[in-house]
Amino acid sequence: MAEYADTHVDGVGVEEMPELSDGDDDDIADDEEQWQWLEEDSPSVSVTCLFCDRLLSSVPATLQHCMSEHQVNLVDVIRRHNLDDYGYIKMINFIRSTKCNASCLTGLPDAPLPWESEDFLRPVLQDDPLLQTDPEELCGDEGSSLSTCPSSGADSQDALLQRALAAEERARCSGEALARAMDDLHKLKLLAQGLVLNTETSKSSNLGPVAELREDEDEAYFSSYGHYGIHEEMLKDKVRTESYRDFMYRNPEVFRDKVVLDVGCGTGILSMFAARSGAKKVIAVDQSEIIYQAMDIVRSNQLEDKITLIKGRIEDINLPVEKVDIIISEWMGYFLLFESMLDSVLYARDLYLADNGSVYPDLCSISLVAVGDTQKHKDHIAFWDDVYGFNMECMKKFVVPEAVVEVVNADTLISEPTVIQTIDCNRVCLSELEFSSDFCLKITNTTDCTAIVGYFDIFFDKGCSNKVMFSTGPQVTKTHWKQTVFLLEKPFSVQTGDELRGKITVRKNKKDPRSLLVTLDLGGMTQTCILQ
Ligand code: SAH
Repeated sequence: MAEYADTHVDGVGVEEMPELSDGDDDDIADDEEQWQWLEEDSPSVSVTCLFCDRLLSSVPATLQHCMSEHQVNLVDVIRRHNLDDYGYIKMINFIRSTKCNASCLTGLPDAPLPWESEDFLRPVLQDDPLLQTDPEELCGDEGSSLSTCPSSGADSQDALLQRALAAEERARCSGEALARAMDDLHKLKLLAQGLVLNTETSKSSNLGPVAELREDEDEAYFSSYGHYGIHEEMLKDKVRTESYRDFMYRNPEVFRDKVVLDVGCGTGILSMFAARSGAKKVIAVDQSEIIYQAMDIVRSNQLEDKITLIKGRIEDINLPVEKVDIIISEWMGYFLLFESMLDSVLYARDLYLADNGSVYPDLCSISLVAVGDTQKHKDHIAFWDDVYGFNMECMKKFVVPEAVVEVVNADTLISEPTVIQTIDCNRVCLSELEFSSDFCLKITNTTDCTAIVGYFDIFFDKGCSNKVMFSTGPQVTKTHWKQTVFLLEKPFSVQTGDELRGKITVRKNKKDPRSLLVTLDLGGMTQTCILQ
């Protein structure tokens, strides 16, 4: 909780700590010391002990009492079982509802825990102050309080460094946990919608809820491509579509007499470009219903002899040929890797591409650039402070972890861009699509850095006499991919000439591999954003 965090920041020395006004007596001086740091700014509340009827005047006093009277160190329990917010809440409610005694905690096996059930999320006591306590703060600040003990130079520096690293790791984990929790909420929403709309909820009886949701999500993914609207948007994106067209029309020697596979053909536009630029045969595959329109479109343009359309997931179907010379695909998602459709292209490449064949586009890069746009930051974050006269501050914790896809005004850029990852589609393997990269942004303005923006560039390069590329960056004509904005929870000031060093980690969300988790380490903070 905030007040505990403040104690940490202030770095109160042991000798400055106030006497505890509550808790238990006798030979517990050491224990007292351990909890005193927590006591300092704790508001006086009434907390019922977890194991007896005693009322204590604060959360720290309760922790201390549990330790001295019941020999249970709750911080140890939290750490030992690596409890996140939910785990902690469930543990508290479990103890209160089962009225178990202290020994049931100390003798716990490593797994599974007796409070796994979601039922224990329901509070047993109304306004239970223990439930309003952040377990990470409890563990984290308790650790930091120990650092206020006098100790010798190098050792204490080492220890401080270790603690800082541990704190950083905890921050990263909690960011991820929050992002995952939000994702779960999103899935529950989908499930609830499904139930309300009375969709076929009984069909996948033996898949289990997660697989069921995943299957539903894939269904939702492909059905979103069944509607013409999304294809209209893509076709009207001239930067995108003309780049593919120019690459094929300006490099007919690449396509002449070649067998081409179009992974995810949609309306068939890329297949038709390929056919017109001299391909011998084009096989166009799509799982979504749009392929039925593509069949009409291909016929209307008298290309049915050249283009064979197949409905199905590329992973599920058999192609009518053993190998293809070229694979074309427009698989790119927000921040390049969102949607994970590149996985399907790599699957096709590894199974069907001839030895000297090529995948196009062949090269891609992901870049970051810093943004200073206090107004935008306020619009997204400070907005919740006062909404029609009401405080909705609690919403902020959901806003920061969600990356925003929007067009960034080039005037708000405050650094040179930097490439954080390049991908060669002819060589890359699946595992390389999750990565960490250190980066350095050269600052060009003295102002507050409020966000980091990501975008990608695409290159048609291999063997082309007329190379083609396009960018989705904020400095050039906008595309339907816009840019991906990672708002910083706490903007910080930067100066022209600064080199802002950071680290970015991009991973698939295990619970929904089509969404991405992006962790930024920057300016002394770590935050994880989800892109979904
Ligand atoms: N090539 C078209 C459409 C691109 S959108 C164009 O450039 O306009 C991506 C398409 O790929 C969607 O229609 C989607 O349904 C399809 N798709 C995605 N993953 C696929 C897979 N694994 N198998 C088959 N089709 C897939």
